[in-house]
Amino acid sequence: MRIIILGGGPCGLGAAWRLTEMGHEDWILCEKKDCWGGLSASFQDKEGFWWDLGGHVLFSHYAYFDQVMDALLGKEDGWVFHEREAWIRMQDRFIPYPLQNNIHHLPKEIYWECLQGILDIQKDFPGKKPAHFGEWIEATFGEGLAKWFLRPYNYKVWAQPLEQMDWSWVGDRVAPVDVRRILENAIFEKSDISWGPNAMFRFPLHGATGNIWRILAERLPHDKMLVNRELTDLSPHTRKLSFADGTTEEYDVLLSTIPLTKIARSLELEAGNASLPQFPVSSFRHSSTHVVGLALKGHPPEYLATKCWMYFPEDNCPFYRATVFSNYSPNNVPDINSQWSLMCEVSESSVKKVEQERIVEDVIDGALNARLLSSRNEISHTWYHFIEKGYPTPSLNLNKSLFPLLSHLEEMGIYSRGRFGAWRYEVGNMDHSFMQGVEFANHILASGEELTVWYPEIVNNGHPSGRKR
Ligand SMILES: Cc1cc2nc3c(=O)[nH]c(=O)nc-3n(C[C@H](O)[C@H](O)[C@H](O)COP(=O)(O)OP(=O)(O)OC[C@H]3O[C@@H](n4cnc5c(N)ncnc54)[C@H](O)[C@@H]3O)c2cc1C
Repeated sequence: MRIIILGGGPCGLGAAWRLTEMGHEDWILCEKKDCWGGLSASFQDKEGFWWDLGGHVLFSHYAYFDQVMDALLGKEDGWVFHEREAWIRMQDRFIPYPLQNNIHHLPKEIYWECLQGILDIQKDFPGKKPAHFGEWIEATFGEGLAKWFLRPYNYKVWAQPLEQMDWSWVGDRVAPVDVRRILENAIFEKSDISWGPNAMFRFPLHGATGNIWRILAERLPHDKMLVNRELTDLSPHTRKLSFADGTTEEYDVLLSTIPLTKIARSLELEAGNASLPQFPVSSFRHSSTHVVGLALKGHPPEYLATKCWMYFPEDNCPFYRATVFSNYSPNNVPDINSQWSLMCEVSESSVKKVEQERIVEDVIDGALNARLLSSRNEISHTWYHFIEKGYPTPSLNLNKSLFPLLSHLEEMGIYSRGRFGAWRYEVGNMDHSFMQGVEFANHILASGEELTVWYPEIVNNGHPSGRKR
């Protein structure tokens, strides 16, 4: 069986890794760029600073994924281990994340507003399913938290109206409200930062996140790993692929990790061809991400010395998140004794426009406003990268078109998987994407079940409910 893999990000590399492990030899991987890792690649600028495409933290929901990571960089030596320190910057102060467990750090009037909202939802639990993400936020956290943090912050991240977003993806990503814990933290004035599935994480000691994927790719058979091979056309009837360099390939089974919308359009599944089933992929939304790196002289101020990343709900800065990237590994900067770095992410969509030519300046102004920097003189240089497809949006009714489309493609021998291949944010992280590739190989060669793409609630929460496609 000839298998072709499109895309050399974590999903495509996961499939290639597992096919090799299972002893299957008839496959190739085609990647349009000349490097590995896709959105999880990292880049070194000419001054020697390393940058990820937005702060990448290695979560894991899988023992297999952990084993592969150990096999690539060692159990300990190749990593820096971190206790997650996530903070929120608002009201001119840093508050530990998640805000709902730490509202006593807010100014008194806002603290009271948030607490009232939490108490209100205890007595008036609406009982009906929220119609959209905005309603879910209010029903779950109350009006105060919604107003001061969750609504503005989520709009800044997603760049989409919350009324047009689903909430069923939330799973283990958002801390629930625990009134007992909130009151205990308030009364004993505790800072509560330990919530969540990623309280500890590890980061490559050298070469930033992309090093994982570079090393993995190096261990795969070089003759099967083809770079500068951009798919331009696909014929499902002849099972033939055409590439920008004029070459063609035939497949029995195709694993595509490139955006699903591109595949659907090239198959005319959305072009009004009445003889084919139609899927409205124009309603598949996404946001873009501007990543701005600030290369800095000196040392981070004391209050940033151990922080990992920070969330920014307010409009005094354009970014929704900033990472103290030099805290992740001392090798992310050429000389940790005299340099440090910040990486900021700004979202954009058709409803939230960004002026690209001003974005670096706006980020610098925002970093000054939010007191991440004390002066422009700290900056030695900047780094900028635009990601056209950053976040797949969990839009309302997306799954009504998505699931039939993925199933329809499968009938033609095309498995569309990965962050934008499957367009499912809830299983769109590196571990999920890698495992979608691994599970594809298990499925094709050994009839294994593809849990990640079809049952996110099982892999994310470990609970077996709703096990149906
Ligand atoms: C801002 C940001 C922050 C993130 N933070 C985290 C995090 O903290 N933790 C985490 O686990 N994950 C994070 N992620 C997600 C992570 O980047 C993805 O999970 C992962 O890269 C998805 O892998 P993939 O292989 O599915 O897709 P991709 O990485 O998108 O790879 C797809 C590949 O296909 C190639 N391709 C595209 N078109 C063609 C074509 N026509 N022909 C051939 N090849 C093509 C691309 O060049 C690319 O290499 C983040 C993502 C973003 C954008």
